[in-house]
Amino acid sequence: MTGTEHLMQPRKRLFILLLAVGGSLVLGLTFLLWWVPSVGLENIHPVLPVVFGMALTVFSLFIVGGLSLLVLTLLSGRDLFMLQPLRGLVVRYLFPAIISLGKLFGVDRDMLQQSFIALNNQLVHTRKLRVPAERTLILLPHCIQMFDCAIKITGNVEKCVSCGKCDISGLLGLAQKFGIEMAVATGGTLARKLIVEKRPKLIIAVACERDLTSGIRDAYPLPVIGILNKRPNGPCFNTGVLLPEVEQALAEYVIPAVRPEE
Ligand code: SF4
Repeated sequence: MTGTEHLMQPRKRLFILLLAVGGSLVLGLTFLLWWVPSVGLENIHPVLPVVFGMALTVFSLFIVGGLSLLVLTLLSGRDLFMLQPLRGLVVRYLFPAIISLGKLFGVDRDMLQQSFIALNNQLVHTRKLRVPAERTLILLPHCIQMFDCAIKITGNVEKCVSCGKCDISGLLGLAQKFGIEMAVATGGTLARKLIVEKRPKLIIAVACERDLTSGIRDAYPLPVIGILNKRPNGPCFNTGVLLPEVEQALAEYVIPAVRPEE
């Protein structure tokens, strides 16, 4: 056995074990789906129909209650109780379920993702956060920089000389006005690394629907305000952002840093 093969063994075993467990579960469920209706709950045990009915009622009340709470939160714009776990439920479970449901009905994926981003922003908004500038991070996609700009701003956005050919200069002005750190991420891995390094308490993220959606989900429970980029030249190329939208988010959520001369 070669060294590489030896290293691969435990991973393979775990995967095979999970496959076997998954297979057994499918077989077990298939058997139950056939057996329970054929025999009848009452014939298995006389109290089973009542227990089963109660369990189903509690389950559906839980789901309907959660959804009602969500709708009330969105309509009122107020911080209703259980909001944090509620955002967790939306981000982790409801969103994938809604995407699958939307796919089934042929709803456009971008529209679903836009709706999820708006929903997330509203849920963050209801928390009425005010985060110090030092603990806030503006995260940008690389495509917002003019494609032929010779300056490498990944790693240090402040290298931008503000020539004004792309929105980086305007964003840099806003970041400096509030005293916030701004970073450019070339992908999800770098974005995650930046979050671990800078440990922000709030992220203002600019990106496309797909990246914002995955970013919001990856960063949870960290609050993320998602701002969609503008793509007049198509995706991933010389993109832009509405600066007033970013400024509004900063004004709402960020306590500006006090500069030494103030
Ligand atoms: S504004 Fe900055 S990043 Fe954009 S093209 Fe000019 S120097 Fe490059």
